[in-house]
Amino acid sequence: MPPDVISQLKLESDVLAGLERNEFSMVYQPVVRLADRAVTGVEALMRWDHPVSGHIAPERFIRLAENMDSIGRLTEHAIAETCGMLQRLRTQLPQDKPFNASVNISGHDLCRDGFVDFVAFTLDRHALAPDMLRLEVTETVLVQEPDISDQNLRRLRSLGCGIAVDDFGTGYSNLAYLKTLPLTALKIDRTFAGDACSSAISRSIIRMLVGLGAELGVEIIAEGLETADCATTIAQLGCSFAQGYHFYKPLLEQDLSALVLHGDESNQHVA
Ligand code: C2E
Ligand code: CA
Ligand code: CA
Repeated sequence: MPPDVISQLKLESDVLAGLERNEFSMVYQPVVRLADRAVTGVEALMRWDHPVSGHIAPERFIRLAENMDSIGRLTEHAIAETCGMLQRLRTQLPQDKPFNASVNISGHDLCRDGFVDFVAFTLDRHALAPDMLRLEVTETVLVQEPDISDQNLRRLRSLGCGIAVDDFGTGYSNLAYLKTLPLTALKIDRTFAGDACSSAISRSIIRMLVGLGAELGVEIIAEGLETADCATTIAQLGCSFAQGYHFYKPLLEQDLSALVLHGDESNQHVA
């Protein structure tokens, strides 16, 4: 057997064993409203603490898992954990404070029978308003799988979940097609947002994307902001929401709760 097939098989069995042993956990990176820096939601990001290899970056295991059936199990784990966190937080938040959490999903999830039913079941099990959950799909997936994406995105949207297009600006999507999708948010990729203060081209692209967001009636979220200058520039370009190390790194649930409930920024265990 070729070595890459062996390592794929090993990864598959490691992922399944890791799910049994509870090695996968979620951390939550706050999304802020630029006008007042209020935390309006989070992006859920997966972490794998492997017993032999230690911390494995999601970019590595997610990409490999996408070639195997185990991506479905990982996505279900991410959605279940995130809904559990939302349920615990919701009981403590004022009823009128809007808050949402985004979970990253892959093209395979969108094509899978039963995925939408799993989302509906999990929201129901945690007694959550569906608009507290957003699903993030990369622009590339939308471009590659337009028919299936379209059907299942509509079903998810009719459940009441939000849909965000991730890494927007990198996938060459057909804008006429985008207009037909039931979207909630576009997330501007960090290659543009991250260098907005130093690159005139990035600023022009962001200005264009902000205009597009307004036309489509969706939120625009800038990703990967690392400096105060970039945050100021992004706000001046008309972007309303942002995410990045300048504001917050991904946090453990306990630190997110302290931040959202008490504005407590001390003692955060960055994850
Ligand atoms: P992404 O969806 O684009 O997530 C944002 C990534 O950028 C995260 O990396 C986050 O920690 C990082 N980031 C946030 N702010 C900054 C910043 O200011 N500067 C820089 N340089 N990076 C920043 P992370 O957690 O390593 O995740 C990497 C990718 O792995 C994600 O990119 C996403 O594509 C994938 N991923 C992570 N968790 C999941 C998951 O549960 N399911 C799926 N399908 N994919 C996931
Ligand atoms: Ca994402
Ligand atoms: Ca992204």
